[in-house]
Amino acid sequence: MAESHRVHAPGRVNLIGDHTDYTGGLVFPMAIDRGTTIDYVRGGTRVVLRSDAEPGTVTIELPVRDDPSVVEPAWGRYVAAMAREFAAARGLSGTVTSDIPAGAGLSSSAALECAVGLALGFEGSPTELALAAQRAEHAATGVPTGIMDQLCIAAATAGNATLIDCHRLAVTNVPIPDDVDVTVVFVAHRTLVGSAYADRVAECDRAESVLGPLRLIEPADLEAARPELDELAFRRARHVVTENQRVRDFATALATDDHAHAGALMTDSHRSLRTDFDTSTREMDTAVERLTTTPGVFGARMTGGGFGGCVVAISEPGAVDVGWRVRPSPGARHL
Ligand code: ADP
Ligand code: MG
Repeated sequence: MAESHRVHAPGRVNLIGDHTDYTGGLVFPMAIDRGTTIDYVRGGTRVVLRSDAEPGTVTIELPVRDDPSVVEPAWGRYVAAMAREFAAARGLSGTVTSDIPAGAGLSSSAALECAVGLALGFEGSPTELALAAQRAEHAATGVPTGIMDQLCIAAATAGNATLIDCHRLAVTNVPIPDDVDVTVVFVAHRTLVGSAYADRVAECDRAESVLGPLRLIEPADLEAARPELDELAFRRARHVVTENQRVRDFATALATDDHAHAGALMTDSHRSLRTDFDTSTREMDTAVERLTTTPGVFGARMTGGGFGGCVVAISEPGAVDVGWRVRPSPGARHL
């Protein structure tokens, strides 16, 4: 009988820094102790996968030359796009199991991409895996998502969150203090396909065509830029510029054990995403409000692309009795 193999890729929760990756800004996600596992045997010239999260059997003939975005069932698009990235010729057959909800802002898509990449025999660096997975996601969905999810999931290490400079693709491991709980609360499923995500990318492009790279602008210089932009582009730019600063301040607050300030920055980030970036929903606002008014919670915010998904809180140990407590976990790997 063929030898059986197992790969695992974690989901991630973004603690702060949303909608900053695609302008080369700063993000602060953490790989979590929930994720996606593929058990498989090698052999043949096809990738054949079933999943406990989605219906249907994905069957991909190798090598993949056709457009991955038309594969059915639809979750096979990520699989086909990864196989095309690596010009995979050696097949496999297996099952996908996952304990992160798909389509809820915990990056089940990047977890699936990275796990498939490893199962197909990828052996390069975490950054190479992340870039391939990002290209695959674009090919599979047509949504111009940033590099945050894939780079966090490919590069994370145990016990640490990842501070990522998305321009330099530089990852800094930042320990999560033992006396801080990170809790994820599911609010609603959503999809970025057909959402306003691509509009936000275009609006930031518009701001950058006038102001230059948003990652290089200091919050103090923002007001001077106001007359140069229409109201909408100004608000989008203001979110990105202030969010980059909040990520820097958040890393400093964690490093100096100023949990209260770290939490306040998260709550401020949520306000910015709600009012300047328009990516929150009433349900997410309510969930954040509930968490921030819970004793022992330092701060809370929506996490990920928005328009639904999950919210995240940091708190004193044991303060939150809803959702999942998640721990900082290592990135995609063979088990
Ligand atoms: P998120 O990455 O935030 O969970 P996305 O909309 O980017 O949400 O990706 C969700 C999609 O990824 C699903 O609709 C499905 O096509 C695919 N997917 C993710 N995880 C799995 C899985 N375990 N099995 C099958 N498909 C999955
Ligand atoms: Mg995704």
